[in-house]
Amino acid sequence: MTLAEAAEELVRLGTDFHRRGWMLGTSGNLSVVLSRDPLRVAITGSSIDKGRMNPGQILEVDAEGKLLGGTEGRPSAETLLHLEVIRSAGAEAVMHTHSVWTTVLSDYHHSRDGFAIEGYEMLKGLEGVQTHEHREWIPVVENNQDMSALAVEARAVLLKRPEIHGLLVRRHGMYTWGKDLRTAARHVEILEFLMEAVGRRQMMEPT
Ligand SMILES: [Zn+2]
Repeated sequence: MTLAEAAEELVRLGTDFHRRGWMLGTSGNLSVVLSRDPLRVAITGSSIDKGRMNPGQILEVDAEGKLLGGTEGRPSAETLLHLEVIRSAGAEAVMHTHSVWTTVLSDYHHSRDGFAIEGYEMLKGLEGVQTHEHREWIPVVENNQDMSALAVEARAVLLKRPEIHGLLVRRHGMYTWGKDLRTAARHVEILEFLMEAVGRRQMMEPT
């Protein structure tokens, strides 16, 4: 995938996710691997209004998150976490959203380090899941403005539970990923649906 192709796809996804309330204001970041060796990644720049994105706002960065020539702008601090997921989960694309339900559930379940979702038909939209009887663990890590520290925590979670499809950052949002851009985008839809379903169901019978 070329940078131009990646930029077009990321703008389309970002605009869609903004419209659906998952990347409001300047929140969230989307990235896709352009090449592995050396690692080159296309990623949304810092402070971009997701309701008014254009392809010129998609940056190319290297394995350290440094901006490469040909693109202008400032990489987001969250670029480091994208690069960590690309390395630790072997992901080809990473999506970071800031929805209401991931924010609420990450806060509620933080003291237990996460929560499980099971029994929902929509779980089958996650890569490799064949049945609604699947039990998906959703880890929650504490938020931190030090993205290097947050990346270390995310790496530990990914090494401990390589089977997961996403993780939450407390009172912040979700990271999910996939073997390609389409899979990662599908995981956003599936997990956002599941988070909302679980959250609304829980409100009917608060414990
Ligand atoms: Zn964020």
